[in-house]
This record gives sequence, C-alpha cells and structure tokens, in this order.
Amino acid sequence: MRILILGGTTEASALVRGLLPHSGLSVTLSLAGRTAAPVVDAVPTRIGGFGGPEGLACYLREQAIDRLVDATHPFAARIGRNAYGAAEAAGVPLLAIRRPAWTRKPGDAWTEVDTVAGCVAALGDVPRRVFLTVGRMEVAAFAAAPQHDYVVRTIEPLGDALPVPRLTAIRARGPFDAAAEIVLMRDASVDVLVTKNAGGAATYGKIAAARTLGLPVVIVRQPWKPMVDAVADAAAAVERLVGAGRDHATLRGV
Ligand code: NAP
Repeated sequence: MRILILGGTTEASALVRGLLPHSGLSVTLSLAGRTAAPVVDAVPTRIGGFGGPEGLACYLREQAIDRLVDATHPFAARIGRNAYGAAEAAGVPLLAIRRPAWTRKPGDAWTEVDTVAGCVAALGDVPRRVFLTVGRMEVAAFAAAPQHDYVVRTIEPLGDALPVPRLTAIRARGPFDAAAEIVLMRDASVDVLVTKNAGGAATYGKIAAARTLGLPVVIVRQPWKPMVDAVADAAAAVERLVGAGRDHATLRGV
C-alpha cells in the first residue's frame, strides 16, 4: 500500500518511524521546504509545494497513492484544506493527525487571540519584555510594536525578519522542557510569553514555565481545518495504517 505523509512535524517523523518495521507499506514523506536542514527521516522524501489542491490531486494519481496522511502542523491551515480537496478529487482516503490544542489550567493567565496580528494588539502600548515563539515566518507583524523588547526563538536564523531596536535572537529546535524554559525566561527577564497554541508535548514547557513564574501568555487559537477522519497522535495513525495495509493486501490477494 502506497502512503503519502504530509509532514514537517514531530508527529510525521514519529509516524514514519512507526511504519518502518511493517512490510508491505511504501511510504513517502512530503515537506514544504521551510527549514534548510530538516530532520531527515528514513524514507523517500520530496520537498516543496504541489501547486495547490489540483497539484496534490495530480501527484496522488500519478504516484498511485492509496492513503494520504495529513500530519502537518495545526497552524498549517492551507495544506490541511488542500489535503482535503485533493483527497476528494483523487478518491484517496485521507487520515489526519489532529494534535489537540493546549487547554487553560489553574494558574494560567492567557489572553487568547485568533491571529498573530491580534497578539501585537494584545501586548498593548506599555513597553514589555516579550518572549516571542510564533515562528520566523510570522514575527514581522511585531515590527508594528517597536516599543517592546523582544527575545525571539526560531529554528532558522532570524536574519532581519523583525526590525526593532531591542531584540535578542535565539536559535533552537525543540523539544524544550519546562525546567529549561524557566531558566531561559527568568535569565532573560521575560515578562510576557507570546505563542501559538500548537498543542502537543514538545513545546508545552514554555506554557508550564509561564504558569510557574506567574507570567501572562498571549496565545493564538488554532485555525479551522476541515473535519476529516482523524486520530490524535502518531501511534494511533500507525495502528490505523497498518490495519488498512493488511486489508489492502488481502483485497489484492498478496
Ligand atoms: P500552509 O500555510 O498550510 O501551506 C502553505 C503551502 O506550503 C501549501 O499550500 C503547500 O504549497 C505548501 N506545503 C505546506 N506543507 C507542505 C508539505 N508538508 N509538503 C508539501 N508542501 C507543503 O503551511 P505553513 O504554515 O507555511 O507550514 C509549512 C510546513 O511547516 C508544514 O508542512 C507544517 O507542517 C510545518 N510547520 C508549520 C508550522 C506553523 O506554525 N505554521 C510550525 C511547525 C511546522 P502548495 O499549495 O504549492 O502545495
């Protein structure tokens, strides 16, 4: 059974590793190409966009893909919609891994907003020391609020993506645990955290750290994605795909 995984997440990598031991599954991973040195997985990997839902549908047909898996990031809304449209058009079953969003716990002081631009407004006019973790592609919006002091963490070099007078750039790739996040936020004298509600364990440490330190958090809600057949994590996806692979082999008399 031929599987295409739309990836760029820890779940996609875990899914690839989980499927490797199972025979009869031919897996290809697809990445958008946003990171210069992506974590390499042990399966054929294609990099770059498909050209919208039509391009993805073409790819599914040309490559005779039997199952499409949307294992992209909760904030990658466009590829989520494309996956839905392409799977419908090509008649290929789609399975999504939908990472549950973080939920507010006692002690959390969250201001929830719908967009990154909304975070800028929520920070207000009074200068603050902001720990900014929304990803390199979205930091530019904060140039509109140069009164703040920014500590910005990104996977790729920040370059001149955020032209403000006071900025500390940190380059790091998760996972990040709460203890280390507490040290970072305390040493940098952070007084507010700005983040997307990415869900999952890998980057939850900053949320726990903010709670421990009594710091406010400005957090972007997850965008809408189409309702599709979905599981919550890679392990559940492995189970579903291995089962589907067995059925596929039986039907083909393999
Ligand atoms: P997006 O806005 O949903 O997608 C923009 C375009 O990038 C899509 O229309 C598609 O181009 C291409 N694309 C996205 N994911 C792809 C994939 N896995 N394989 C091939 N093409 C892909 O996505 P984004 O927010 O820019 O995120 C890009 C990638 O980074 C995603 O794969 C996502 O899993 C990962 N990521 C995103 C975030 C985040 O905060 N957004 C965080 C961590 C990781 P075409 O229309 O030309 O096919």
